[in-house]
Amino acid sequence: MTIRKWDHLPYQSVNHYLKTAYGVKVYKASVNGGFTCPTRDGTKGIGGCIFCSGEGAGECAGSREDSITTQMELEIQRLIHSHHAEKFIAYFQAFTNTYAPVEELRRKYQEALQDPRVVILDVGTRPDCLEEPVIALLQEIAKTHEVWVELGLQTIHEDTARRIHRGYDLSCYDDAMARLSAAGIKAVVHLIFGLPGETKAMMLDSVRYVAASGAWGVKFHLMHVLRDTVLAEQYAAEQFSLLTEEAYLEVVVDAIRWLPPDMVIHRLTAEAPRDILIAPDWCIYKRQVLNHLHKKLKSLQAYQGEFYRQT
Ligand code: SF4
Repeated sequence: MTIRKWDHLPYQSVNHYLKTAYGVKVYKASVNGGFTCPTRDGTKGIGGCIFCSGEGAGECAGSREDSITTQMELEIQRLIHSHHAEKFIAYFQAFTNTYAPVEELRRKYQEALQDPRVVILDVGTRPDCLEEPVIALLQEIAKTHEVWVELGLQTIHEDTARRIHRGYDLSCYDDAMARLSAAGIKAVVHLIFGLPGETKAMMLDSVRYVAASGAWGVKFHLMHVLRDTVLAEQYAAEQFSLLTEEAYLEVVVDAIRWLPPDMVIHRLTAEAPRDILIAPDWCIYKRQVLNHLHKKLKSLQAYQGEFYRQT
């Protein structure tokens, strides 16, 4: 396999992808579309995934009390002020952002894309909430804006999926991925390393599966424990242990090895607001974690072209 060098790193980062595609760094404006989730509203469950906070993974998104227009304006002004940002991604982050009638989705997505500086629509959702009319809507929007669909798969292992109350099985992911690929829509798949009961080999099984599934990008998260979640109760009862930073980085390094060189990596670790994070402490220092990861990659002679495994 031929190694490709991206930004002097042995993987294609999303920032490199965006700079190449748009000429500048493109920033995420996170909005809350006011949706819920089938594992929260009683359709498939009421408590959500065991690790999910009351914000539905949208701790950094805007307020659902504000209109989409207001949220986007506030986010854009904040990013211009803090980063001199010029182009933006409308990121529907909180809860399941395709879980509504298609006309409601159309109205909310179009509201978020009004500003010509918004060049990408990014929709966080679940494979079981991607009916054909929704995919057709995304395909229509893809004629004028780049569209990303983020899927919270987390693991390919059915026992773990049941344990975390994910609410759909792997065949549902396969079906959604096949339909997104056929529609030409870029899918970004989320995996969590360190889920209760999973070994490193199981985590890498998930990575290999996703790498071969047609996904365009991946996000790697570590299992962290947030306040007021079922996971927090299980952690307090010592029902599982969390990965150390060293163990997490070992998984990430091996995971990168199994990805196609042009697969876009959108995230290598997870962050959480300090006020709701219970553990692990080390993940608060994201910059430090990434520095440690890059040191590890260097020490593996990643930059000399000996990094990727033959598959
Ligand atoms: S699917 Fe996402 S938003 Fe819904 S409960 Fe699970 S983690 Fe939370």
